[in-house]
Amino acid sequence: MIKKRPTVALVLAGGQGTRVGVGLPKQYRKLAGKPLLRWSLETLCQHQKIDYVKVVIHPDDEQLYRDVIADLELLEPVYGGQTRYESSRNGIHSFKELSPGIILIHDGARPFITPKLLDQLILNLTSRMAVVPGVQIVDAIKKIDKGLVEQTVDPSNLWRVQTPQAFQFDAIFSAYQLPSKLNFRDDAAVAQQSGIGVYVIDGLEENIKITVPGDFENALKVIVEKRSHIHVVNGFDVHKFGLGDHVKLCGVKIPFSRGLLGHSDADVALHALVDALLSGIDSGDIGQHFPSNEERWRDRPSEDFLSYTMKLVSENGAKINHIDMTFICNEPRISEFREAMRNKLSKIMGISKKRISLKGTTTDGLGFTGRGEGIAVQATVTMIVYNE
Ligand code: MG
Repeated sequence: MIKKRPTVALVLAGGQGTRVGVGLPKQYRKLAGKPLLRWSLETLCQHQKIDYVKVVIHPDDEQLYRDVIADLELLEPVYGGQTRYESSRNGIHSFKELSPGIILIHDGARPFITPKLLDQLILNLTSRMAVVPGVQIVDAIKKIDKGLVEQTVDPSNLWRVQTPQAFQFDAIFSAYQLPSKLNFRDDAAVAQQSGIGVYVIDGLEENIKITVPGDFENALKVIVEKRSHIHVVNGFDVHKFGLGDHVKLCGVKIPFSRGLLGHSDADVALHALVDALLSGIDSGDIGQHFPSNEERWRDRPSEDFLSYTMKLVSENGAKINHIDMTFICNEPRISEFREAMRNKLSKIMGISKKRISLKGTTTDGLGFTGRGEGIAVQATVTMIVYNE
């Protein structure tokens, strides 16, 4: 039996990204909580028909790269060269021993590729040497010199070409062996130069390339429109009454004939809320982040837990749409402290009071809350999660 040659993806991320301004190279900057480069890497790594993924990086960025890929399964990266052409050639050449059948070459600054687009490219390669995605230009096109229109160009046969660009590996490998002094804009141009027929299939309008600082904002619009999900999440907590003269609920000190027992300040409401928020961003639970056997959390105000969690929420590119909490107890009377608690939550979380609903209920004398042994709180949070 002939062994099937693997399908591989090569992601170009070797640039220093100076055009998007100072700071981290753009491919390592976060977009809705996730580094730009990781968006496309996840899609490529998860695709069933792609066997191996490798990234071309700048030698100075090795640590940044390791931090970004973390748990993803990738081949060892390869260093880029001075130009895009050299980087691509280094990457392609590094696959020689693996001898892939198909290679998809992708620009790491294009985060929004889809499994369907990858399928289409691979499928179209069954009868072709080179296939690239593109979008037909519909705007009027002008050739301009010093701000003045010199010529109007007929756009009917003009396409904007994107990546990934898909090739029969042997064909693109050979194309890159030819000496060239030209600074090619993409791999399709290298293929074409060596006589390979390059076919264009329908790409995606949303498959944008992040080039200038404003592109990060455009990318966020795409995420909100095409990639956001609503998560409805729940948290629940109970604390027992003990000796004391107040309880803390939602960070508000409420005078009471007893206190709540706990390792921290026993703010049962904030604990339920934090648990819900952590669920929403797939970040475990409160016990994992603030273990009750650790001294540093002893008597700690639970507002600190909430602030820490809100930072995680924002780093994960999530937003809170609404919070609904139910306090289950006979006393204290929640309605008396509702506004103070809403104000406090609004301040810590940086969201409008209108998005925070708090209410109390009793269990009609039944169970531990009915017997006045403690307080239970249930928190339901609706979140908009962009990061997937
Ligand atoms: Mg608790």
